[in-house]
Amino acid sequence: MVSGMQLMEKFLFKIAKQWIAGDTVDDALISAKNAYQTKRHAIINKLGEYHTSKKQINTTMKEYQKIIRSFRKWKIRGAISVKPTQIGLSISQKEFYRNFEKIIQAARNAHVFVWLDMESSEHTDETIEIYHTFFSKYERLGIALQANLKRTENDLRDLQRIGAKIRLVKGAYRENAKISFKSKKSVDDNYLKLMKKLFETGNEFAIASHDGKIIRKAQLLSKKYPRKFEFQFLKGIREEIKSELIKKKFVVSDYIPYGTNWLAYSIRRIKERKRNILLLGSSLIQSHRV
Ligand SMILES: Cc1cc2nc3c(=O)[nH]c(=O)nc-3n(C[C@H](O)[C@H](O)[C@H](O)COP(=O)(O)OP(=O)(O)OC[C@H]3O[C@@H](n4cnc5c(N)ncnc54)[C@H](O)[C@@H]3O)c2cc1C
Repeated sequence: MVSGMQLMEKFLFKIAKQWIAGDTVDDALISAKNAYQTKRHAIINKLGEYHTSKKQINTTMKEYQKIIRSFRKWKIRGAISVKPTQIGLSISQKEFYRNFEKIIQAARNAHVFVWLDMESSEHTDETIEIYHTFFSKYERLGIALQANLKRTENDLRDLQRIGAKIRLVKGAYRENAKISFKSKKSVDDNYLKLMKKLFETGNEFAIASHDGKIIRKAQLLSKKYPRKFEFQFLKGIREEIKSELIKKKFVVSDYIPYGTNWLAYSIRRIKERKRNILLLGSSLIQSHRV
């Protein structure tokens, strides 16, 4: 018998499909190839985090290495984006460093850019430390910083001093009010402030937001401060803006998640937008009709 939970997962999956390439590495590469054909760059991420099973970590490692090697063969301009806890940080720093060293080695051989996703605030210090360690050895490395954290202004300043490549996001994790901005307005205001700093003094950074107001402001800033930067979006979100930006000759990257571990990622996306909850509701109603 199908339980209520399984039924709910089935409906959620119907919606999640728009944001996720599929289960396998090939699904991700096909999606990246499609993005490339519409003049977008691709950033591939395997879904899943907080892995403590060596088997799961090994599989993730093998897949990232395979993706890195495949870009040239598939004629794709692509990068990968790694969550530190999916390749060992939830076991130990040693485990993580050993694994990430292999990813960087593969990326160096294939000239592939690697992004470090930023996870919840308990990992911010470690992730920045990791960035420092590896950026000194491999320059094609970027790090995400979250505008919802109060500390980010200092982190951004420190990282800019070493010429770090920064992806600015609003932040996807629920954080304590002591360390984070809670209202949408305060997060947006901090995003705009940090984004201005990136344009004033940064280079090779990424504006990763679906927020029309932020995207418009970034375009204005780019006229005043001509910098090497790109817009980054999640797969399946705000397709119309992506095409508009490409027409205006901006660089646009699609962040493409793949894998069977799609539930947590999709719940974050649903929470981000009321219309997605309505979409979930209408999908439930439609499926009851047929
Ligand atoms: C490329 C990329 C990489 C990211 N990497 C990280 C990371 O490493 N760490 C991290 O914590 N977070 C990451 N995020 C997620 C980010 O922190 C936010 O949770 C997410 O982007 C939503 O914030 P927003 O800037 O789009 O603005 P919001 O204020 O959430 O949304 C602004 C507007 O954008 C549109 N929109 C937003 N979401 C959706 C949606 N799901 N469907 C349709 N329209 C939507 C709506 O019009 C909405 O009003 C990443 C996001 C992107 C785009």
